[in-house]
Amino acid sequence: ERMMEIRRQNCNPMTMKVTYYKKPVFIHQGYMQWLWDVDGRRYLDLFAGVATVSVGHCHPRLTATLEQQLKRLWHTTNIYVHPPLHEYCEKLASYLPDPLKVIYLTNSGSEANDLAMLMARLHTGNFDIITFRGSYHGGSQQTMGLTSNSSYKYPIATSSGCTHTMCPDVYRGPWGGSHCRDSPVQSTRKCGCSQGHCMASEQYIGQLKETFATSVPSRIAAFFAEPIQGMGGAVQYPKNYLKEAYKLVRERGGICIADEVQTGFGRTGTHFWGFQGYGVMPDMVTMAKGIGNGFPIGAVVTTPEIAASFAKASHFNTFGGSPVACAVASSVLDVIREDGTQQNALHVGTYLMTELAKLRDKYEIIGDVRGKGLQIGVEMVKDKVSRDPLSPEAMTEIFEDVKDMGVLIGKGGLYGQTFRIQPPMCITKEDVDFFLAVFNKAIHSYME
Ligand code: PMP
Repeated sequence: ERMMEIRRQNCNPMTMKVTYYKKPVFIHQGYMQWLWDVDGRRYLDLFAGVATVSVGHCHPRLTATLEQQLKRLWHTTNIYVHPPLHEYCEKLASYLPDPLKVIYLTNSGSEANDLAMLMARLHTGNFDIITFRGSYHGGSQQTMGLTSNSSYKYPIATSSGCTHTMCPDVYRGPWGGSHCRDSPVQSTRKCGCSQGHCMASEQYIGQLKETFATSVPSRIAAFFAEPIQGMGGAVQYPKNYLKEAYKLVRERGGICIADEVQTGFGRTGTHFWGFQGYGVMPDMVTMAKGIGNGFPIGAVVTTPEIAASFAKASHFNTFGGSPVACAVASSVLDVIREDGTQQNALHVGTYLMTELAKLRDKYEIIGDVRGKGLQIGVEMVKDKVSRDPLSPEAMTEIFEDVKDMGVLIGKGGLYGQTFRIQPPMCITKEDVDFFLAVFNKAIHSYME
């Protein structure tokens, strides 16, 4: 283990910002919701390599598909077609409502969002793009502009001045949280805050309209939104908020883009796509992560009309839509259906949220439990009245403690104050009980 740490320090100390920096975890093997480190220690994986391993590490049916395809054909580029491409695109399209039927395959979420930006600008002839505060849409130079959180971007590389972050003051994260009126998990305690977190959705919508009237250009190319923010810390929107945003965007000539990189493929439990939970219809959907269960693939799906403006120049992507990626992604869709993955996300996720809400009511430092299905955020605060974020040191202490007891979770939020739970969607109620015991113990010992 020490040797591995020395090797990491020598090769990539700057490029690899590992999560457990005090004592990095060296992962060696995985199976379904479990990971093993080089010493054979087992961890319950509740973060899935950042919400990516959708149906389970080394899922046997996916491994079999991969083996078969590896023996047959690896690569062609998109200047040729191959059966897995058509098979996959037809299958993926069947999960999307009309007229979202034209598919471009990429290798990552950033690449997908980059392409989406380009298509939106070509189609509308406008340049400005709107995103939400707290959003994460990628790490390429273009998508870094879409991403809001300053800890993921460099001003010099995002100086194109073409993106605006829509940010009503209240957008700190707790919308749709357990203390808000629109939340699925109501608190038994009053929030007691004085920061406007508990406003009714109509008031949020009023603020949104005002933001548009005062600071959004009259013509825009697009609006990107994650149906539930991932890196932002499982932030949801008040009732009808997204619907209103879509309307305001379309009035300005823009198209609406759902970034389903984290919310897609059944993670929200109630729907296959996160946007379906808000009753909105995007003009374009971007996806990655869970689409390949860890195999690199991403996609942009849009309408024939929008795709037409992109067809004027030729689009080339060496690896996008490779036979191997298509074969694996196709099997991912089959596994989700056959294993009842989405249903499990709803079932286990609801149980986890309900139990976490009990911990929230018990501990002063759990400010909020929010999310849907298996995209859950636990916002940690100094106290429930100020709702100031818990310090990074305290977050690290709890986080490391949870890891030392055998569970991997994630962190997010504008202030790094939200624990994130986005596991492989095959986890069971027994796994949840194990995590709850561990989490309870970690918080208890921090507070002592
Ligand atoms: N969109 C969202 C919502 C994401 O969470 C991410 C990655 N965290 C991306 C886009 C970028 O995806 P990738 O890292 O595959 O480029």
